Amino acid sequence: MKTVLIIGAGPAGLAAAAAAREGGARVVLLDSAEDVGGQYWRHLPATRPARNESLLHHGWSTFRSLRERLEGDELCEIVTWAHVWAIEDRNIHVLVGEPDGTNRDARVYNAAAVVMATGAYDRTLPIPGWELPGVFTAGGAQALAKGERIAVGHRVVVGGAGPFLLPVAESLVVAGSTVVGVYEASHARRLLGTWTTRPWELARTASKVTEMLGYVSNHVRHRIPYVTGRAVTAIQGADRVESVTVSAIDRSWAPIAGTQKTIDVDAVCLGHGFTPRLELPIAAGCRVNARRFIEVDEDQRTSVAGVFAAGEITGIGGVDLALAEGAIAGHVAAGGAASDMQMRQHRVRRRRFRQFAARIESAHGIGENWSKWLTDETIICRCEEVSFGRLNSVAEASQATGLRSLKLLTRAGLGICQGRVCGRSVEELLGAHVPGGRLIDGVSSDRRPIATPIRLGELAQELDNPAHLERTNTK
Ligand SMILES: Cc1cc2nc3c(=O)[nH]c(=O)nc-3n(C[C@H](O)[C@H](O)[C@H](O)COP(=O)(O)OP(=O)(O)OC[C@H]3O[C@@H](n4cnc5c(N)ncnc54)[C@H](O)[C@@H]3O)c2cc1C
Repeated sequence: MKTVLIIGAGPAGLAAAAAAREGGARVVLLDSAEDVGGQYWRHLPATRPARNESLLHHGWSTFRSLRERLEGDELCEIVTWAHVWAIEDRNIHVLVGEPDGTNRDARVYNAAAVVMATGAYDRTLPIPGWELPGVFTAGGAQALAKGERIAVGHRVVVGGAGPFLLPVAESLVVAGSTVVGVYEASHARRLLGTWTTRPWELARTASKVTEMLGYVSNHVRHRIPYVTGRAVTAIQGADRVESVTVSAIDRSWAPIAGTQKTIDVDAVCLGHGFTPRLELPIAAGCRVNARRFIEVDEDQRTSVAGVFAAGEITGIGGVDLALAEGAIAGHVAAGGAASDMQMRQHRVRRRRFRQFAARIESAHGIGENWSKWLTDETIICRCEEVSFGRLNSVAEASQATGLRSLKLLTRAGLGICQGRVCGRSVEELLGAHVPGGRLIDGVSSDRRPIATPIRLGELAQELDNPAHLERTNTK
């Protein structure tokens, strides 16, 4: 019997697992989290269940039925707390156990069919003062609200761009914060222009539209101000956040002089979209397209034979697109084809939600002049404390044109997060010094051969004593 190995048990991975099982394959489903569900269905652990988990979720019944189906299936092995930390020559290296625990199980899987469904990181642009305690990524605040029921502050501002700001504000309110405003960088005219064209297309994505209308009505109910064409352009505080500066910005996101307003808050949540989590597909050799997502064909096949990709790593499109792509990837990985009759509804949904995703990008994509709110002192790489002024002076003095040399000279992106937070911003800011606006050595900040933290002891044990590994050949 064929085995399909799936990395990531978010919406895409769960749908892939269900489809692969329906296609007759055995499934091994790995996820580094304590439970399945991914970012969209992040929830309290079974040991501390919520009275009404569906309160913070959309599509909760879809999740429950997927989970029950897979958990009750003896030919679907679900391994949680399974941290895939490297892929080499098709060997998938995994440490199984609590992230901070000792004695984690080292395993190596090697499967003929692999579905990558590792999702995304949330992206935050650097802002003066963003290194202060009390500044959260929108996704981080959302994860604390959904996964721990923790409110990040009492008076909170949410700023950035994209529809994701709406569920974040809603979760903050449910967790107990007062949201004093949501500041969306896009201008009302751009939003209206994008969201009202071709309404028949929107009508075909009713689930997402209903979800968004639900957030809007909750905003109205909780009287949360939603202001467009404004950005959080500075954050102030002695030891932690005390206030934020919000400015009107032009269509390129450059702040407009004289429009600054200070708002007293004790926390701020920033979200400027998402970047795909590409370490593992890149390590597996999958081609990345010009938009910097994993290239897939109609069957969700990547450029590497036997490796499929689904969900946010192929394009930021939300839960419905992730479910449709996952179902197709799992079905084909088990031996079917996307053109098979039973895949019809998934093909249709994939097409519709790709259009929806393109609409989000066109309504909320990052403006080219966001760096105008930076000062020379603004920290860009927080791990290595590299400022905007230092990035510029090194780029000018060295005249280097490649990311590799500029990273070594500035140390930006070389710290503990390995550029997960600042990588894309560093690339853009350094690219401004190069003719054509793009660094030219072809190096990408998305390449991280060690995908998740691993203790030196665990690494040494694996190198010294390969027999210690539980070798699982799932071919
Ligand atoms: C922090 C954050 C919060 C979000 N919250 C929301 C929300 O509330 N509402 C909303 O509409 N959208 C939200 N999104 C967008 C969301 O990612 C998608 O809508 C949807 O969850 C995408 O599904 P997916 O299966 O592609 O990815 P995900 O749901 O992200 O699932 C990917 C899974 O892969 C696992 N994984 C990744 N790397 C490894 C590894 N090395 N080893 C093992 N497992 C790994 C992760 O643990 C995760 O469970 C959020 C995104 C982020 C980054």
